[in-house]
Amino acid sequence: MSRIVHVNGAYLPEANAMISVFDRGFLMADAVYEVTSVLGGRLVDFAGHCRRLARSLDALEMTNPHPDDGWLAIHREMVARNALEDGMVYLQVTRGNPGDRDFAYPAPETAPTVVLFTQSKPGLADAPAARTGWQVITIPDLRWGRRDIKTTQLLYPSMGKMMARAAGADDAWFTEDGQVTEGTSNNAYIVRGNRIITRALGQDILHGITRAAVLRLAAEAQMEIEERPFTITEAQGADEAFVTSASAFVMPVVSIDGTRIGTGRPGPVAARLREIYLDEARRSAV
Ligand code: PMP
Repeated sequence: MSRIVHVNGAYLPEANAMISVFDRGFLMADAVYEVTSVLGGRLVDFAGHCRRLARSLDALEMTNPHPDDGWLAIHREMVARNALEDGMVYLQVTRGNPGDRDFAYPAPETAPTVVLFTQSKPGLADAPAARTGWQVITIPDLRWGRRDIKTTQLLYPSMGKMMARAAGADDAWFTEDGQVTEGTSNNAYIVRGNRIITRALGQDILHGITRAAVLRLAAEAQMEIEERPFTITEAQGADEAFVTSASAFVMPVVSIDGTRIGTGRPGPVAARLREIYLDEARRSAV
């Protein structure tokens, strides 16, 4: 598969795209990113991703290279040029190429580097895993302290996925001070009765776009929401558990560190939230 990628305004075959070795994204992970799902050729929750991108850039004193309608035009062009039906559009903005390596930020007029590529995932919304659920392990959260900024420093989450794989699990949940922060690339929830419990927003977790939509839809469906931390023990004793992310949507979790959650099968709350989230995602996609 040869894709058309976007680099600083140009649409190029992936083999022809070039980034400088002095780019701060490459040298320092001085870069932020977004991943927007595409269902039926349309972008899911696009406004939310634009808002979070602006927030991440602002937190790092980087200028936003495009207004929201400019980003939308570029995303649509990427979907069209790659004939993308179901999958993701990955977007990254780095602090650019100052021409040398230096810890200090370069002069503000240094142009940012903008890269986009697509990933085709036919049947993205019908993942068989949603019918069986994920098994997760827990590992200490050894990431930096500004997890609310969506940077490309993803080495520890990658290590976490490998630890999960080595343990025969699907993913890992991070824990800090005895409580769950989030999954390696998703937000974590437990369910007790009609109540959904998830950690409150702060600098210690990413402000998931899917989290915001799912909590809004859950409130509209008369479910109760409690935003507070929870321990592994509480999670293991919960009726249900699940995670959310832009590409996994709502994914049931059926075991934590080998302990079965509820019946050990995806529960009704996670299944219902997945259904209403996907309906709304399709309805509001642009
Ligand atoms: N937490 C982390 C650490 C993530 O990497 C992601 C995926 N970007 C999420 C949560 C979920 O965020 P979203 O719903 O915006 O994909």
